[in-house]
Amino acid sequence: MDDRAAGAGTHSGQAMKKYIFAAFACVCVLYAHAQERSVSITIDDVPNVHLYAADGHSSRLLKKLDSLNLPVAIFINEGHLKQNPAFEQNKKLLESWVTKPYVTVGNHSYSHSNYGEIGFEAFSEDVLKGEELTRKIAEKAGKKLDYFRFPFNGMGKDSAEQAQMRVFLREHQYISTPFTVESEDWLFTQLYEKALKEGKLEEAKAIGNRYVDLSLKLFDHFEGVALKVAGKPIKQIYLCHDNRLNTDYLPVLVQKLKEKQYRLISLGEAMADPAYKLPVHYHGNWGFSWVYRWVKDAGERRSLMQQEPSDKEAQQAYEALTKSKK
Ligand SMILES: [Zn+2]
Repeated sequence: MDDRAAGAGTHSGQAMKKYIFAAFACVCVLYAHAQERSVSITIDDVPNVHLYAADGHSSRLLKKLDSLNLPVAIFINEGHLKQNPAFEQNKKLLESWVTKPYVTVGNHSYSHSNYGEIGFEAFSEDVLKGEELTRKIAEKAGKKLDYFRFPFNGMGKDSAEQAQMRVFLREHQYISTPFTVESEDWLFTQLYEKALKEGKLEEAKAIGNRYVDLSLKLFDHFEGVALKVAGKPIKQIYLCHDNRLNTDYLPVLVQKLKEKQYRLISLGEAMADPAYKLPVHYHGNWGFSWVYRWVKDAGERRSLMQQEPSDKEAQQAYEALTKSKK
């Protein structure tokens, strides 16, 4: 081997080393990103007493969660307890939710009112009214009531009103709870329940599967937006509701998320992600994902929102259903 060839050899050796290092680093980043996929499941509007009554005063969703072995956070509207005459039974069911070791407890206001519409006085009263029973049950079970979530995720009509409520919640030791992913389960459940009521089981099944499919697409979408905005993958917070659809399809969605290497984590673990300390640049009352609220430029935010996957057919069916109910 002459000097030139040896030199070239050393050279290409170095290049190869660099290449291997780069490839290794790349694989590491990909691996780390894949590893870092995690989500906290949060369920709003608990307790759904109409559903429990229809199921013989039991929560089939809670029973399913018992066997799923994952942490969940629930956001409670105590006003729901009085939505039917079975108050004592409803209260017992709420107790069974709150006392589960895997459940993190949150207040969702008493009557699920919209802060941006009713203003500070009425809303702050509704927050405190919403914790009376829950706090007692939680404390008896050795738990804290640390979390609050705004109904409709509406945090107030402008930045002044939002700041006022932030102070109030802080004074009452509440952590305001964001979400990053949701998939219109409240819409799908109406279509699902209608199909079940009409005995159209195949149609119901198709609606359930479409909910799961759309949810997975939305997870991918919000992972992408979060990566862009936060510069790295974040711990996601999924928002869904205590309803018939999730009773039957939340376990399916959870299974699919596990297949995508998601780790199911507690709300506390998710909230420890520094992303949740990012400044919020949106100060209106709309209830969209926090991932969008972290986007500074309103035009860019709109464009990201327009890229959000949706199920137009389901939305049209829902519109037709609400029209027919009027
Ligand atoms: Zn709600």
